[in-house]
Amino acid sequence: MKKAIYPGTFDPITLGHINIIERGLRIFDIIIVAVARREEKNPLFTVEERVELIRDVFSENERVVVKPFDGLLVDFARKEGARIILRGLRTVADFEYEMQMSLANKKMNPEMETVFMMTEGVYSYYSSTLIKEIASLGGCVKDMVPEKVEKAMISKYRR
Ligand code: ADP
Repeated sequence: MKKAIYPGTFDPITLGHINIIERGLRIFDIIIVAVARREEKNPLFTVEERVELIRDVFSENERVVVKPFDGLLVDFARKEGARIILRGLRTVADFEYEMQMSLANKKMNPEMETVFMMTEGVYSYYSSTLIKEIASLGGCVKDMVPEKVEKAMISKYRR
């Protein structure tokens, strides 16, 4: 069983993330979506809400497992028995950050490998941050996130 761990903040999950997971499933048997709590980043959604929104998208797919995590990714991956980290790449800025992270993770656990998947077409400019900004200003994000996520964002910003 080839198992990969796809870590991120997912605040909230976007169609860009979903594209990476779906394509990742062509390579890996199981993908563990590891949702980082990251309270210091002041997320819009709690980690429990983010996990629920992702579980809802993949409720029919038992090859996608969604779990929250705290602390170091390498420790969580070891606990889950995963040695492959899956990450998405959009821009040169992503590349610089991702390279640093993958080298740091390798230093902490030399058995860990990071596999990168290039974003596709329209997804290349989707980011949770951009989508939150649009939604907070009353813009439409219908084509960028699943319907449940769109509704959840609208209700957060209405408050
Ligand atoms: P983090 O805070 O760890 O960067 P994110 O939720 O922003 O968490 O992203 C998780 C992963 O998904 C990262 O590897 C990021 O580059 C990737 N990603 C995010 N949006 C896209 C997209 N539109 N296309 C491809 N990869 C993406």
